[in-house]
Amino acid sequence: MTLLVETATGPIDASELGRVLMHEHVFVISTEIQQNYPQEWGDEQGRIDDAVSRLTELKDTGIDTILDPTAIGLGRYIPRIQRVAEQIDLKIVCATGLYTFNELPHYYRRRSASSADALTLHFVQDIVDGFADTGVRAGVIKCATDKPGLTPDVERVLRACAQAHRQTGCPITTHTNAATERGLDQQKIFVEEGVDLTRVVIGHCGDTNDLGYLQRLLDAGSILGMDRFGIDGYLTTAQRVEVVAQLCDKGYADQMVLSHDASCYIDWIEGEVPLAPLPNWHYLHISRDVIPALLEAGVSEEQINTMLVDNPKRFLESQNLGGY
Ligand SMILES: [Zn+2]
Repeated sequence: MTLLVETATGPIDASELGRVLMHEHVFVISTEIQQNYPQEWGDEQGRIDDAVSRLTELKDTGIDTILDPTAIGLGRYIPRIQRVAEQIDLKIVCATGLYTFNELPHYYRRRSASSADALTLHFVQDIVDGFADTGVRAGVIKCATDKPGLTPDVERVLRACAQAHRQTGCPITTHTNAATERGLDQQKIFVEEGVDLTRVVIGHCGDTNDLGYLQRLLDAGSILGMDRFGIDGYLTTAQRVEVVAQLCDKGYADQMVLSHDASCYIDWIEGEVPLAPLPNWHYLHISRDVIPALLEAGVSEEQINTMLVDNPKRFLESQNLGGY
């Protein structure tokens, strides 16, 4: 059976995914602000050219695919991603879902019914029919739970993601605040909705070295996103490497994926990437610095391959299993 994975340039055979960074954005944009105050974004073609050059550089370091979890709330615009994707060899997996820490956009607040949440309908549409008229289908579902926890609207998003997953089989990846153990809240809601937790990446687990918390997430079956290499404010690269090495040593290489959560352009902080306060927060840090540091810390080539190739493949191709 051929197992296909949806990308910005169409479906590909899962075996072609190669080495995958499982949480990288291309553009993170406050759309309404940029449309009205376009001076910082500048020239559209210039931004596309910049993305093409950064992602080509990434491909040249041996990374074949990125999963871009830029959902509604982060400025997703698939036609722009298509323009980038058609000029590069690297594959981009696009996301449905919604990113909020507190409340839903007003659009959705009164569009809910117990039988069919407008959120679920949109998520399923992105997965089954594609994003608007682009012909590109979502390959993953994204949601977020941060310090405010399971607010009523955040809980609604999580349940809608779970329902879209159960209808389609499309896997789920998340944003969490690790210090407040939000991954456990997400697992609780997903279990209530009947989700198989092996088909969920709990994101931003690399932001903590609390092995007790990580062990609980692992024991419930999820994959951990060790996916913020370069965001030194939570943990330094050396600390992140140590946690990954410890978990590999305990036999959990088959439940971790690696990434930076970086982007070509993010308008949340002034300046161009790499941003002055975060010099390591760019696409190339894992290839150049983290993999050598993992090897130095005793992680084997085989375990690195498991985290970069086998786990992403198993996760992304699970969409072919369909709904349940
Ligand atoms: Zn992210």
